[in-house]
Parts: sequence; structure tokens; C-alpha cells
Amino acid sequence: MRITVLTGAGISAESGIRTFRASDGLWEEHRIEDVATPEGFHRDPALVHRFYNQRRADAARAQPNAAHRALARLARHHDLTLITQNVDDLHERGGSAEVIHMHGSLLGALCSGCGHRWPAALVMRPPDPCPACGQPLARPDIVWFGEIPYHMERIWQAVESAELFAAIGTSGQVYPAAGLAQHARRNGAETIELNLAASAAARDFSQHRIGPATQVVPQWVQGLCP
Ligand SMILES: [Zn+2]
Repeated sequence: MRITVLTGAGISAESGIRTFRASDGLWEEHRIEDVATPEGFHRDPALVHRFYNQRRADAARAQPNAAHRALARLARHHDLTLITQNVDDLHERGGSAEVIHMHGSLLGALCSGCGHRWPAALVMRPPDPCPACGQPLARPDIVWFGEIPYHMERIWQAVESAELFAAIGTSGQVYPAAGLAQHARRNGAETIELNLAASAAARDFSQHRIGPATQVVPQWVQGLCP
């Protein structure tokens, strides 16, 4: 079966990865505008690098959980496209060979001058030169608020061709993730939401499994992989 899965913060939360909470606009006591926008980076690149250096260290210490591992198992039985909004590498370390990171990755560095990409050092600093053009413009390869998510053409195609679309641990409120379930449904896919609570986009899903990802995801995968 052709299955497209979108994962969000809820799948990594149980591995101890903390994230942005829409309710108060804060992320680890930092304002989103300061640490997750191009304007914030322009104002204070040192602060932004310190913030992502900490996120990178936290992600390196975290371990993939049963939900990450279950999706690796799903890929061995089905034609799976795995899309994540997460910037950690827990899917990869949980055994998933191919992951589409629509919001970038903590493991990547990007030159804001020439667009060159390279593997991020564990600790990045503002004067770090770009290995391609030499300008001191290295930034984390993360899609910030106000920027366009990566790989959208490939993502829409995977959603369109899916027979089954699943959203896991995502509130579905952040564009364009919100539109993916709707698009899948219009193209004839069965849609399922696996989440701690029914999301704001609940009506776009024909099935709901409510509970922690480490419980509901392995159960769901078990049903698809006899
Ligand atoms: Zn460059």
C-alpha cells in the first residue's frame, strides 16, 4: 500500500525533545521572534546559535522511541513516504532510511549568503565561515517562521498518490501541514490522525487514535504489518 506519514513534535516529545508551545509563544523561555525568525537571527546571531547549539545537544542525547521504530518497520512492509516537521534525527536513528525534513535539520548548516549546505558542527558560532564562499554567514539549516518549508513539491506528490495518509503527533495548525490531510482526502486517501488529543483539523481525518505516540503508533503499525 502507498502510505504517506507526517510526523510532528508529539512523536519526539516522549523522547524528551521540548518544542515550541503555541499557547504562550515561547520556546524554552525564548520568544519565537528572537530565535526562530530570519529577523531574530539578523538582530542577534550569537543568541540564535546558542539556542540551536542547545537543541542540537539535547537531540544528540535523546533516544528514538517505540513510535520512531514502528515507522521504520512500516517502511519494510509498505511503500512509505515519511515526512517530518521535526528537526531532530530520531527517525533516522530509529531505523528510517529516508526522511523528508520539511522544516530542515539540526544536523545541517546553511550559508545565508550563497545557499551552500554542509553538515553542522556540534557548536556553531556567528563568525563561522561558509566553506563554499568564505562569508561569515553560517546559520542552522532550519526553516524559520516566515520561510517556505522544504521539498513541498515532493510532499504534495506523496500526499496526492497516497492510499493512506497518517498525521502523527502534529497539531495540524501550522501551514502547510494543515492542508495535507485535506488534500489527501480529496485525492481519495483514507486519512488517520494519531495524536494525544483530537487536533483542530480533526474533521479532515476519517479515523482517530488518541493516546501517547509510543502506544498508538506501534499498535497502528502492527495492524498494517501482519
Ligand atoms: Zn556561502
